[in-house]
Amino acid sequence: MVIKIIIDAHGHIGHFNNKWWGIEKLKEFCSSKVDKIFISNLSIIAHGMKYSTNELIKVINNDKTNFLYGLIWCDPFYSNWRSLILKAKTELKDRFIGIKIHPTIGNYNANDECILDPIFEFSESNQIPIFTHCDDERSAAWRFLPLLEDYPSTYLVFYHGKHKKLDNLLERKKKFPNIFIESSFCHSSRIREIIDNFGSKCIIFGTDAPFRHRSPYDIILKVYREVLNEKEQQLFFFENAMRLVNINK
Ligand SMILES: [Zn+2]
Repeated sequence: MVIKIIIDAHGHIGHFNNKWWGIEKLKEFCSSKVDKIFISNLSIIAHGMKYSTNELIKVINNDKTNFLYGLIWCDPFYSNWRSLILKAKTELKDRFIGIKIHPTIGNYNANDECILDPIFEFSESNQIPIFTHCDDERSAAWRFLPLLEDYPSTYLVFYHGKHKKLDNLLERKKKFPNIFIESSFCHSSRIREIIDNFGSKCIIFGTDAPFRHRSPYDIILKVYREVLNEKEQQLFFFENAMRLVNINK
């Protein structure tokens, strides 16, 4: 059986390296294999959070194919981040998914005193998932531990799940029931390892599209399918991400 609907939980649009990366680029990369993709807007890097949030809302509302779903990239140093997230939630309705954070690009450490606390508090009390970059020193998994201790029921997705240190957090799954690992940069053996050690409900499919050009999408899907049984594929490619879509509905 081939899974009918595939959700890619990690994609981007935006102005990047003097180019515009829009829905066409994403669809070309995904070669019609993916039905829905969660995107954040790279324009925040050059233009700030207000501009990038408004641009993302416009791009998603212009997509009549229901392909794009929005993550609002939150800059904790921008004083009005709350109102922009609430604006996106209102205007995107069912196509608002959550908050994206990127400590490295934002130039802070995830555990710097009080920087992310207001976002985690807001996310936990409004049942809005957070998706974080997790691939280097500023965004290392261990830095999120104090935040999870203080906001234990936050839905938190770690992008780039290849890092073994994430397993220290997954081991505390009982205490932090709502943490997820996303699969971009992961070898298929890593996906198997996470499922064998922590079960099939904590991992979601994602690619960092359209920036992972090393492997065509067909190959990415094929290597993952080879190590997963049907039920695991259903959870990995679709159901686990849908749990995130539905938590605040
Ligand atoms: Zn990314």
